[in-house]
Parts: sequence; C-alpha cells; structure tokens
Amino acid sequence: MSRALLPGAALDGQQVTLGVMGGGQLGRMFVHAAQAMGYATAVLDPDATSPAGLVSHHHIQTAYEDPQGLAQLAACSAAITTEFENVPAPALAVLAATRTVAPAAAAVSIAQDRAQEKAHFDRCGVPCAPYAVITNAAQLAAVSRDLLPGILKTTRMGYDGKGQVRVATQQALQEAWQSLGGVACVLEKMLPLASECSVIVARGHDGAMVNFPVQHNLHRDGILAVTQVFEGLVDPQLAEQLVTAARAIAQGVAYVGVLCVEFFVLQDGRWVVNEMAPRPHNSGHYTMDACDQSQFDLQVRTLAGLPLVQPRQHSPAIMLNLLGDLWFTHGQETSPAWDQVLALPGAHLHLYGKLSARKGRKMGHLNFIAATTSEVRTNALHAAAILGIEAFG
Ligand code: ATP
Ligand code: MG
Repeated sequence: MSRALLPGAALDGQQVTLGVMGGGQLGRMFVHAAQAMGYATAVLDPDATSPAGLVSHHHIQTAYEDPQGLAQLAACSAAITTEFENVPAPALAVLAATRTVAPAAAAVSIAQDRAQEKAHFDRCGVPCAPYAVITNAAQLAAVSRDLLPGILKTTRMGYDGKGQVRVATQQALQEAWQSLGGVACVLEKMLPLASECSVIVARGHDGAMVNFPVQHNLHRDGILAVTQVFEGLVDPQLAEQLVTAARAIAQGVAYVGVLCVEFFVLQDGRWVVNEMAPRPHNSGHYTMDACDQSQFDLQVRTLAGLPLVQPRQHSPAIMLNLLGDLWFTHGQETSPAWDQVLALPGAHLHLYGKLSARKGRKMGHLNFIAATTSEVRTNALHAAAILGIEAFG
C-alpha cells in the first residue's frame, strides 16, 4: 500500500520520523511505542520538561499555533498525530496541508465541543443522556425541568471533571452558568449510573477497524481512578452493544487513529454514550502490559498506514492511576513505597517523568496482570493498600 510509512531508514537514508502535537504522558507513551518499532519522533510542546519532549528525538518547543513551530514539525515528520484533544484544530489543518495528519482536524474539533459531539452521536444512532445546549439566557430560562437534577458542562475545554457543576434547581442552574462565565454549555440530566465503561477502537486509512475489550472504569472526583478488564465484569451482550456503538461512532467521521468512547451503564440496564476522546485514553493504559498490542502501538500503526490486527488481551488486568496525592503524607512530600509495590507479582510501574507532584496531577499508572482474576485483584488491592489508594469493588 503506497501510504504506508515503513519503519526504519527511508530510501534517502534518513530515519522515518513520526510527529505528535503535545508533550504530555500520552505523547510520551506514543513516542516510546514509535521508537520501539524503529521510527524517530518529533514532539511539539512549549514546555521544556514535557514528558514526551524529554524522550523524543526532536522537541520543538513552541506554542501549538506558532507558524514556525508547525513548519518545523511538518519539515521533520512524515506523519503527525495528536495526544491531547484540545490541540487547536486550525493547527492540525495547517499541518494537513503538507503532511498526513491523523486523526483529522474535523474529527478532533467534534470531540472538542460537547454539543457537536452529541450531535454526532445522534447522527450515528447512538443514545446519549437527555440534554439541552445553553448558549444564552433565553435558552437557560427555557430549559426543561425534566433535565434537573443535572450537570452543567462547558461545551469546550473540560477534562477530569473540570468545567462542570452539578445543579438541582433552576436557581442553581442560573448561578452555575454565571460561575462558568456564561460560556456555551450543555446541561445533561443526572443519570443513575450502575457503572462506567469505555471502548477503544483503532481505524486505519483504508477503513479497517479493530478494538480492545470493554474497559470497566471507576472515577473518583471526576478523575479516572481504576480500570479493570477481565471476563465476568461486563455482560457479554452489553459488551457487544458498546463495541458496535464505538465502531459506529468512529465510522461516522471516517476516523483515522485511536479513538476512545466512554459510556454510562444505567441502573435499569440501559446505557448511553458519554463522550469520545480522539486519542489513546487513560482507560487503555492496561493494554501496555495485558495485550499483545498496546493502544500506543495501534496509534503508531494507524498513523503510519501499517496493517491493523485485532489485539488480543492475554491476561486479566487492573490499572491504578497514580495521582500526585500519593506523593504527600500528612502534607509532607514523600516518595511512594515502590519497593513494596514492585515486590508484588504482575506489577508494572509506568511513571511519566513529571518533575513535581501536585494533588490531582496524573504522575503515572500501575498495571497489574496475572493468570487469574482473583490473583490480579488480590495483588492490585494489596498495592492500593500500600499506596493509600481507596479499595475498589
Ligand atoms: P474526562 O477526564 O473523561 O474528559 P470530563 O471532564 O470530560 O472527564 P465527563 O466524562 O463528562 O467529564 O464526566 C466526569 C464524570 O462525572 C463521569 O465519568 C461520571 O462519573 C460523572 N458524570 C458525568 N455526566 C454524568 C451524568 N449525566 N449522569 C451521572 N454522572 C455523570
Ligand atoms: Mg469523561
């Protein structure tokens, strides 16, 4: 296939370079996967100590929309992807004028805007929570009482529960909208959740698509805390429906790259889609140790136009997110007891090279794999107890 960028040196003797917009932990894990396959890498991120910039062959240290920075990234990269969804879509469009860019700016800009995202889910025939778009005071006043209690979410720039306010009354809704600066928002009905799941798919330039198994996710304070993936956790019929929905959502934008779709499973057994992320996802980090291909390997393959083969999970898996909170005991900064944690069978520690810990900051993750479900649970719960992470069900 002519679009494939085969790894290793190209005919001109230069190493083929894959570029990424953004230098966070997702970019770092992409860089590691690309380098393992023999590609050189380029990262564009303004931060001199960004996790991905620190490990990449090239680090272009400019703002995301800096024309010179973008020109430099395009000059050294054969194809370019993104690692954070708030990357300015116009910057991707500039890069796409001369280089392969995946996912495309059009798909990323849908994921950047909750209103557009929900409209996309509607078009794909995938149900989401009842909602109303609020862009002005008249729309606010006209909101149906049926949507309360609800969650007011800014349409743009929200992540890890930021830009969200829970509201029970019309009065609280008014105040919440003002507290969010009167920007465009969606009000979503608060649903009684039984669980939260996500599905990661990878789709190639040629339309070929593969997926990972359904992930079962536990959030705390709006941030992903634990992902568990093993048999018996998600009903197989439900899993099939979620995978079908995630594939339809990717297909509906002719998506190229790795896409994560988050779902809410309701107490009455129904489910709705929550949102999508146009990149690898925190809930897919277990794939690094529990699957024969990780989500970052598939990101490399989709970008380079290499074949996609359905990934296989070989071990039950549990991922614990490591937030900056773990670096503090009684207000004092300390290092977590990695020596004790690494003494547990099946522990895989991934730290992102961030130079300082802050509460709520994603510092790394800890994957557990084992031959059996009970073993993986025992070891992961043991690690959680050592680290001071609340136990999970
Ligand atoms: P992310 O870090 O995943 O991008 P986010 O800031 O975009 O997070 P959401 O995924 O919209 O936020 O919501 C964060 C969490 O809040 C959800 O995982 C869920 O636990 C809860 N939540 C959000 N919307 C609803 C809803 N309509 N009903 C019940 N719970 C909800
Ligand atoms: Mg979310």
